[in-house]
Amino acid sequence: MDVMADLTEELDVLERELHSRVGDVLELARQTPPAGTPAWIALMASVGVEPLGLRRREQALRSGFQFHRGALPVEVRMVLERIRDDVSTRSRTVTEPADALTGETARAYVESFHRRLDELVETRLQDYVDTIKPATSLNAIFANAMASTKKFTAEGSGSQTKTCDCCGAGRPADTDLRTCAFCGTPFFRQ
Ligand SMILES: [Zn+2]
Repeated sequence: MDVMADLTEELDVLERELHSRVGDVLELARQTPPAGTPAWIALMASVGVEPLGLRRREQALRSGFQFHRGALPVEVRMVLERIRDDVSTRSRTVTEPADALTGETARAYVESFHRRLDELVETRLQDYVDTIKPATSLNAIFANAMASTKKFTAEGSGSQTKTCDCCGAGRPADTDLRTCAFCGTPFFRQ
């Protein structure tokens, strides 16, 4: 029996399943308005994720005010993370016995598998945010508006100390948010 071949084949199957599930999630998310739909709520429920509560939802909608379509990225992130964790957990039944059996090459393969899993959520979420973003010209108008507004509000409660790397939403200065309210990306990466 070729343990290495079995290992790579089983991990490849899991990875293909992950990509296919992520693709389905993003397709539905793109067709969903920020307020959500029964279909979107059902999809979240199917992986054990609850929709945002009222307060966090309002905060998210305020942060992403320039976005007008697509399920809330912070909810999309939770779903993608849950699916990734599910696949990662299931991969252990494949990798743990095989790892002990086949050594160096297998370990390298398993490591690269997990690296791709870790990167998947961030890269696919960034793609998603880019596809639901308003047109660039409109973005530029908002950016200019924000820049000129900032001059007046820099000292006030509406000022922003930082913007999100992923979606461009601001971090209100009067909060202690560690992650973006709109897409869940950490404001301060290590
Ligand atoms: Zn963001």
